Amino acid sequence: MHQLTLAEIARGLADKKFSSEELTKVLLARITQLDPQLNSFISLTEELALEQAKAADARRAKGESGALLGAPIAHKDLFCTQGIRTSCGSKMLDNFKAPYDATVVSKLAAAGTVTLGKTNMDEFAMGSANESSWYGAVKNPWNLEHVPGGSSGGSAAAVAARLLPAATATDTGGSIRQPAAFTNLTGLKPTYGRVSRWGMIAYASSLDQGGPLARTAEDCAILLQGMAGFDPNDSTSIDEPVPDYTAGLNGSLQGLRIGVPKEYFGAGLDPRIADLIQNSIKELQKLGAVIKEISLPNMQHAIPAYYVIAPAEASSNLSRFDGVRFGHRCADPKNLEDLYKRSRGEGFGAEVQRRIMVGAYALSAGYYDAYYLKAQKIRRLVKNDFMAAFNEVDVILGPTTPNPAWKLGAKNSDPVAAYLEDVYTITANLAGLPGLSMPAGFVDGLPVGVQLLAPYFQEGRLLNVAHQYQLNTDWHTRTPTGF
Ligand code: GLN
Repeated sequence: MHQLTLAEIARGLADKKFSSEELTKVLLARITQLDPQLNSFISLTEELALEQAKAADARRAKGESGALLGAPIAHKDLFCTQGIRTSCGSKMLDNFKAPYDATVVSKLAAAGTVTLGKTNMDEFAMGSANESSWYGAVKNPWNLEHVPGGSSGGSAAAVAARLLPAATATDTGGSIRQPAAFTNLTGLKPTYGRVSRWGMIAYASSLDQGGPLARTAEDCAILLQGMAGFDPNDSTSIDEPVPDYTAGLNGSLQGLRIGVPKEYFGAGLDPRIADLIQNSIKELQKLGAVIKEISLPNMQHAIPAYYVIAPAEASSNLSRFDGVRFGHRCADPKNLEDLYKRSRGEGFGAEVQRRIMVGAYALSAGYYDAYYLKAQKIRRLVKNDFMAAFNEVDVILGPTTPNPAWKLGAKNSDPVAAYLEDVYTITANLAGLPGLSMPAGFVDGLPVGVQLLAPYFQEGRLLNVAHQYQLNTDWHTRTPTGF
């Protein structure tokens, strides 16, 4: 039963082959048995899951239907869940029980999903390896000595190991697409404003976006359907109609114009990944797509710009964790300053502290123009590059990451080495564009992802291309040994 996709689960439930309660019990047992190897969960919510599963079964018995009614999922542990620990992977929030549900959580619950638990993540979503979590590193089910990617590494490892069919995740600079690539999943970062950020603990507010992680594009379509839509509680949510993503999966790719940026294939890309990307291009050509070389000339400036903007926003967002209102508080503070300093010093890990310092520096009076303002100008140039490219092509294709998943600990002493791995994903966040990563093959037994980018609100186009590709390839069906 654990091999079933969301789409297959919906059919099985509708045909009364099994109940949501039965499925939930099987998956909870599987998590208890296998997760100690992976560390992909921070909290399990067995009681809630069984309650939601029974409620979903009752709704079906009354004649209700719906693709997510009775579907087991998990939430990245930065989506607020009422009365349930929402830790953000940090000691700072280890004792924090959210007083309300994030919009994504309440929308999915209303659609009938069953929450199995909260997944592990890099602390405050800062990272590309899921090694900065206060709850310990997550392991990649394809090779337990390697990282699963980050920051949504727990969601990715759990879905890849078939502990559950799909999970929510968030992407500020690649944290849905990169772990999807590292664990052989399909992951979609929607257009900025497509999915509500209300109740999603902020890292860098102008870049953060929630989205689905699943094994197939079809399942991403199903989960996104339940997450997307206007939310008056989020001032950056956009009031655009949400299309029927599943209905859009079967469009023909005949004549689809795919742009391949020449800058994507420079030094730094593992040549074996470059070969797999070429294979995926050939596959899409067979389906009728037309390939065009394009240029994104400002791509080289994106990493430095991102690593100024994201820490700047983080330093501001994380100022609310001061030991006073919620979160960790140090013991026996001498005075207010001591309370702030020690609560934050004890509550935040090294990577979070590093980002706060970089961000506060970049925003400080004497350096604002030199760093933050300059980075914002680069951000506009990156966006302009995309706008020009989308005048000529329908989607942009390239590798999701320059290298496959690295070994645990391999980049711990050199944070910049990890930052460089975000080169292909970060630009979509700077521009606010939707992006998807899907399985494209393996290098040394480790999965490789191909990334597709599209114009604003064209999530449906990305899902359509990925679904057609998956009907003609079988990379996404491969299961890691032992799971
Ligand atoms: N690796 C990037 C960072 O550390 C992106 C993380 C994310 O998307 N949450 O900031």
